Parts: sequence; structure tokens; C-alpha cells
Amino acid sequence: AELPPFENEPMVDFTKDEPREEFPRQIELVRSRLGRSYPLFINGNERVTADTLKSVNPANPEEVVGVVCQAGPAEIADALAAAKAAFPAWRDTAPATRAGYLVKAAAAARRRIYELSAWQVIEIGKQWDQAYADVTEAIDFLEYYAREMIRLGTPRKVGHAPGELNHYFYEPRGVAAVIAPWNFPLAISTGMVSAALVAGNTVLFKPSGLTPVIGWNLVELFREAGLPDGVLNFTPGRGSVMGDLLVDSPEVSMIAFTGSLETGLRIIERAAKVYPGQEQVKRVVCEMGGKNAIIIDDDADLDEAVPHVLYSAFGFQGQKCSACSRVIVLDAVYDRFVERLVAMAKTTKVGPAEDPGNYMGAVADENAVNHIREYIEIGKREGELLYQGEAPTGGYFIPMTIIGGIRPEHQLAQHEVFGPVLAVMRVQDFDQALEWANATRFALTGGVFSRSPSHLERARREFRVGNLYLNRNNTGALVERQPFGGARMSGVGTKAGGPDYLLHFMDPRVVTENT
Ligand code: GLU
Repeated sequence: AELPPFENEPMVDFTKDEPREEFPRQIELVRSRLGRSYPLFINGNERVTADTLKSVNPANPEEVVGVVCQAGPAEIADALAAAKAAFPAWRDTAPATRAGYLVKAAAAARRRIYELSAWQVIEIGKQWDQAYADVTEAIDFLEYYAREMIRLGTPRKVGHAPGELNHYFYEPRGVAAVIAPWNFPLAISTGMVSAALVAGNTVLFKPSGLTPVIGWNLVELFREAGLPDGVLNFTPGRGSVMGDLLVDSPEVSMIAFTGSLETGLRIIERAAKVYPGQEQVKRVVCEMGGKNAIIIDDDADLDEAVPHVLYSAFGFQGQKCSACSRVIVLDAVYDRFVERLVAMAKTTKVGPAEDPGNYMGAVADENAVNHIREYIEIGKREGELLYQGEAPTGGYFIPMTIIGGIRPEHQLAQHEVFGPVLAVMRVQDFDQALEWANATRFALTGGVFSRSPSHLERARREFRVGNLYLNRNNTGALVERQPFGGARMSGVGTKAGGPDYLLHFMDPRVVTENT
């Protein structure tokens, strides 16, 4: 049966009773299941290891979310063997059949949408709406890549010379290692895993050590979809050991990674080395950091700009690679803009994400706390503290922080903080705003608030980022509508949720017949 055209899964609507009732109910349900043990999943079997790692609620680290088995060299070897053995049959499975598993996994996610959201509220401190948006994005990836593979799965005729017939088609690469981040724990994991799978690769999936239970949720969805054994293997493990094991393995033919610049560059470098027994050159799909700016022009509508900047900078505690971490304000509106931004910041509260009254929740873990605190101190030295809110104790909470007087040469204008810290930069005119906006190594997202058509037009051309947003917030890219990803040090130029994405997971072939 043909699939209906792709539609984004609807966002949560809190004017309705259902989400207002379901969230507390599912959070309570999830809480009744905390502290369970989670196995690996290799070749269709659950596998227990002696080594385990606890995942905790960042708003209350005493609360153990799950105790998760950790893969070591032996388990990785078994998972690689299983994935390798499963590859030929999976490669030869019709694209539409492979797509069918994704559609079934999407249906399973839809049935559990509030429960899957609740796990995120507890395991990584996402606000209700953000947690729900992560699950709808996961569903979107499944539905979209299913359709994309059907589109790309039909061999295409190329050329028109008489006496020959040329077919252009794609083949999967082999075993893919997926190394996922914690900040979009279901969405980005699902995106990378489902792209690799639907293209015909078999997968070893390593979730972040901070969100392994959500990683397990993804395994459950694909088990419910009935994926054949060995096609998807779940191998959580300590990053220090596991990451290199996967990347160096001669059995791995491609690596899909989303995370920090340091780790991404390390993967790219290591993946270039060819080991004995290796049959192909590894390919790396890497999405890394950002130092994203929003420009506030002198004629910007501040009623729009202020809440959008606040949300872009502090939604999910600023822990999105898309987040606004620099706001570049024209001198003529600087004082008015800052005054209103701070006034709005003062109305927000920080506390556990399970209470929807809190604008911000806890950050990921203690490392994040230390890293962010360090940058707040650096920022205070480089610029001036314009606002710092309050934060409760007992969890990994950081106050909302806004620092003014930042210039391009400052660390706060160059280094990704990945937390609730916004740098404010004052510029004389729009030329300087564009120049400063582009003056980082990154090129992920950007934004402009302006009423001037000529300025918006210039920004389209000269504000060189992967995702530019005019007169709106610069987070929350939607599958199909805003294919997501950047260039320069933000990534290798891939666009998740876009029409070229699956091509990175395959190799093209051509067959020419003399007719
Ligand atoms: N796609 C997300 C967004 O547009 C960001 C992904 C990330 O932080 O890795 O907000």
C-alpha cells in the first residue's frame, strides 16, 4: 500500500485536557518504574553485563532512573559479528519493506507519546513541551526517511544515448555505528538510526551515557516493529572505551555522530586510518557545535524579538546546538532591547522540569555545571553581568545568565558553552552585525529580527549558516520543513530531515547495458 504524503506530527496543545492530564499521570508511571536494570540488545537477544552505569535525574541526582549494562570489547565484537551477518539479507530486503519497519516503529511511538515524553522529563530535564517535541521529531524522522527511501529505492534511468541503457541506484555501505547525544535523546538517535537502517545498513547504536534509558525506548520501538535479529544492536558503553572501539573497528563502514566539536574531530581523524581486514573507506556523518547569533536590527519588532531570543537562548537550558548564544544588537536599540530582555528574564523560574511552571530545568550533569560555571566567570571578566537569576540547590541547576559587552575576540563569543548563558554584543550598524555574526568557526543556525527588506535580503546571502531564521526563534527545526545541519566547524554539511540525508548512508552504483 502506498504511504500518504509526509505530514509533521502535530505539536502538543496544552489548551486541551489530554496533555494536561497525561503528563502528570505518565510522569508518575515512569517514576514507578525507576531504578530498573537495562540489558544490551545483540542479535535479537538481551545481554547482561557485570559492568553497569547508573542514569540519574539531573534535577535530583539521588533519583536513579535506570541501571544500564555497559558493553566492553567482547560485547562489541559480538554485536559487530551479528550486524555483519545480518547485513546481506537486510541489504537485499526491498526498500519499501525496510521502510515499513520505520512506519511501524512510528506507530508504536505515537501510542506511547506521553510516556516517552515523561522519560525525557525525568532522565534529562526536558520541559513538557520540549520533551513532547523531541518525540514528535523522532516520529517525523521515521515517517520521512521511510518515504525518502521509497523515493530513492527505485533505480533511475540516466542519459539518452541510443543503444545503451543506464541505471543509477544506491546500495547501503554495511555496518553503521551510531553515536548519539543526550540533548535530543530520542529524536536525534532515531534520526541517525532510522536513516542508517532504512538505507539498508545494519547498526550498532550507542546512546549517550546520560540518556541510556531513552536509548532503550528506541530499541523497544524497533522490537515492536519486528525488525529482524542483528539489524539493530544496542550497545551502551563508557564513551572513553567504547567510542574508539567502534570508530576503529575494521568492520564498521560508517559512523553517524552528533555531539561536541572535539569528539567529532577525533572521530573524523581516527576513522581515516585503515586497519587490517578493513574493506572500505569509512564515511563519517558528523553534526557538531554552534555559536549561534541572532541580530536585532534598529527597526526590529521588540515585542517579537524579546520572547523569541529568550526562548532560543534558554529553552532546554540552552543545551541545543541550535541555541542562540550571542545576540548582536544595533546600538540604536541596544538599551531598550536589553532592558526588555532582562525584564522578561526576571519573570522566569528555574526548577525541576516536571513542574510546568519552571521555564528552565536542570542541566545535564556535574560536568556541565562545572563547564558552564567556568564560562560564566570568564564572561563576567570579559564583559559585564547584565542579569543572573536564581537557581535552586539539590540538582544540576544553573541560573539564567545574560552577559553584555562581549566582543568577537572574547571567549564567550567563540566557545560553545552549551548552557543558559547568553552573550550580548553591541554593534554600530547592520554591516558590523553581519560581520560579527559570521566571525566564529561555527556555521549552524542564525537569526535576524528586522523590518527592512533589504537587510533581510542581505542576511539571506551573507549570514552564512546552515539554518537561518528571519523574524522568528532559531531552534526547533522541523523534519522536511527545515532540514537541519551546518557547515564549517558545525558539521560536514549534512542536513538531517532533508532530501539529501539518506544519500550519506549509501553508495551510488551504475549499471550500463549495451542494448
Ligand atoms: N534540531 C534541533 C533544533 O533545531 C537542534 C539539534 C541539536 O541541538 O543537536 O533546535
